[in-house]
Amino acid sequence: MALKTSEQYEASLRKLNLKVYLLGELIENPVDHPIIRPSLNSVKMTYALAHNPQHADLLTATSHLTGHKINRFCHLHQNTDDLIKKVKMQRLLGQKTGACFQRCVGMDAINAVDSVTFEMDKKLGTKYHERFLKFLLMMQEDDLTVDGAMTDPKGDRSLPPSRQADPDLYTHVVERRKDGIVVRGAKAHQTGAINSHWILVMPTIAMTKEDSDYALSFVAPADAEGISYIYGRQSCDTRKLEGGNIDVGNHHFGGHEALMVFDNLFVPWENVLMCGEYEFSGALVERFAGYHRQSYGGCKVGVGDVLIGAAALAADYNGAAKASHIKDKLIEMIHLNETLYACGIACSAEGQPTASGNYLIDLLLANVCKQNVTRLPYEIARLAEDIAGGLMVTMASEKDLRHPEIGPVVKKYFQGIASVPTEHRVRILRLIENITLGTAAVGYRTESMHGAGSPQAQRIMISRQGNLEQKKKLAKTIAGIKD
Ligand code: SF4
Ligand code: FE
Repeated sequence: MALKTSEQYEASLRKLNLKVYLLGELIENPVDHPIIRPSLNSVKMTYALAHNPQHADLLTATSHLTGHKINRFCHLHQNTDDLIKKVKMQRLLGQKTGACFQRCVGMDAINAVDSVTFEMDKKLGTKYHERFLKFLLMMQEDDLTVDGAMTDPKGDRSLPPSRQADPDLYTHVVERRKDGIVVRGAKAHQTGAINSHWILVMPTIAMTKEDSDYALSFVAPADAEGISYIYGRQSCDTRKLEGGNIDVGNHHFGGHEALMVFDNLFVPWENVLMCGEYEFSGALVERFAGYHRQSYGGCKVGVGDVLIGAAALAADYNGAAKASHIKDKLIEMIHLNETLYACGIACSAEGQPTASGNYLIDLLLANVCKQNVTRLPYEIARLAEDIAGGLMVTMASEKDLRHPEIGPVVKKYFQGIASVPTEHRVRILRLIENITLGTAAVGYRTESMHGAGSPQAQRIMISRQGNLEQKKKLAKTIAGIKD
């Protein structure tokens, strides 16, 4: 089976035996938990749209391994067209869910691991690439959701991994056995971890010789003995426990992050993709981050489309749509959002093949894309809040709206233009609240800042890739300066 339906995906998750803690409790059934469920619905959309003839061109691809039709989230980009379609697919999914749909981290991880294991084997005579391709084949044929896991907790940022007071603050090998390795540590902020079948772990920074036990990459079933998850809180998350479907803002979709803990996890050698080859850890980090920085030029733009639409509706419902400053603010929001998209498309169009044959984005442009994402969604959110007005954060609850006595009062005083029911106005303002301040704000705001690397990480890459010496030469030639 190369393409699962969304129902088959959900059924396959029910078979997993994940150890998930949420609000201080071990969760029996994550699939139906009201706080987790919306995030599962977002991942389901990545399966559902692959069966939709209108979107199949973006959501599916032809496997370079088997020639089978597979979900694009399991695909290695074979050309720049694939890279561009990836970004378009992410924008589409952002538009359909208004949230983080989580599955991109696995797609970005396999594309980074492919070229790095190939180069590692070529130089060192190791067998990692062969192992990786075996895993990839299974991932493609079973249409798996894989959680690419990179970010370590990192403890004291002034110290390298091996000099931390607690050695587990970076994920590392604690034992090398004949049949495999034993791993301890954790990965923080793991997007979609609870909705994944497998995890693909990568090192978090470029390692040195002293830290070679931390130069580690492997795959493991998400429910392997020794892995547990502690679910991350989101602003307003317990509104999902109240029943009703207005106050959460986006009642059907969401995203999630979790702390993934490895407590003496055993990984057989056949699942190990890097173990001690510290000189390749930097390339793996750089490429995974590059792909994920490209990703943000798609997903954040799609959610931005939803936010811009919501702001425009809020203006319509307020009777303010004709005001010139409102029109101008909406134009500005579109301009900013499309600027992000332009970066996502540009770094894809300028992609180049790697030694293993899959395509890598232009790293400079991908980092410029993400650097813009650390800023422009904040301005888009600011303008949305400006247009929405203060009612977005002072409004009464859905329960008040439905109350037999005070409901009519709420409806009377929260009415905007007479032709639009108050409930519509309330729903749109709650949606704006959800994306700018509520559960989806994780994905749209703070993740825009720190996801795929904090702003300074991009600035380091921009300074490395920016080729300042070449620019100086250009200036000297034009200015007539001969050395
Ligand atoms: Fe995909 Fe965006 Fe979520 Fe990352 S933040 S997993 S790119 S939707
Ligand atoms: Fe992310």
